[in-house]
Amino acid sequence: MKKHNLTCIVLKSFNYKDTDKIYTLFSEERGKISVTAKGVRKITSKRAGSLDTLNLIHASISEAKSGQLYLSELEVIDPFKNIKNAYDLSNKAYYLIEIVDKFLFDQQEHRNLFLALLRSLSLLDKNPSTSDFSVCYFELRIMEYLGYGISLDKCVVCMKPYSDDWDVYKLNTSSGGLICGSCSVSGLHIDLTKARQLHSLAKGKYLSDVSYRAVGDLLKTYVRSVLDQNPKTLQIFGNV
Ligand SMILES: [Zn+2]
Repeated sequence: MKKHNLTCIVLKSFNYKDTDKIYTLFSEERGKISVTAKGVRKITSKRAGSLDTLNLIHASISEAKSGQLYLSELEVIDPFKNIKNAYDLSNKAYYLIEIVDKFLFDQQEHRNLFLALLRSLSLLDKNPSTSDFSVCYFELRIMEYLGYGISLDKCVVCMKPYSDDWDVYKLNTSSGGLICGSCSVSGLHIDLTKARQLHSLAKGKYLSDVSYRAVGDLLKTYVRSVLDQNPKTLQIFGNV
């Protein structure tokens, strides 16, 4: 059997046969993979807790000739305990991993997306006061990386660079982003605060004095329309 040493985030799991589980992992090196953990549901198994959803782990994985993957050894790097201990933060984190799982197909590799997810989870865990920013930042990144990016640094019609003194700001995701008042293409009218937040998010810059909640609602509408479904976490918890 071939061996792979991977750094992974646990996305989800389900029971398999009498005592096994199949885990969906997002690995830095091989993207989204399904791995069987044999015997992990036995009472004597010490590994089950290490494989909790959200955990960042180092995993040693064996690949059978059939291509099936089996977990052989693992070590937890970060269980993101602060996230798991806070209802609001865990809702946000579960939303992020759900959209990763929904957007990626099996074995799709994306190192930059893995790093963006890791950055957002680490920010949620270590700096909960910026949690709305962390979610919005990740929503924009995943859309951009997977080919649904929107332009937020210029008017997508006349290409005028973004500035804080436009008389009107419109957002039209199907036209590709922000539209200025001089251009007649329709869009959702947004105020300067939201336009500025979107612009700074696109640059990965945190504006410390504002809440990202309102702009987050806009981005979730966009994520829903691209996914063509309402993520389960949003159905259960509302807009996280
Ligand atoms: Zn324009």
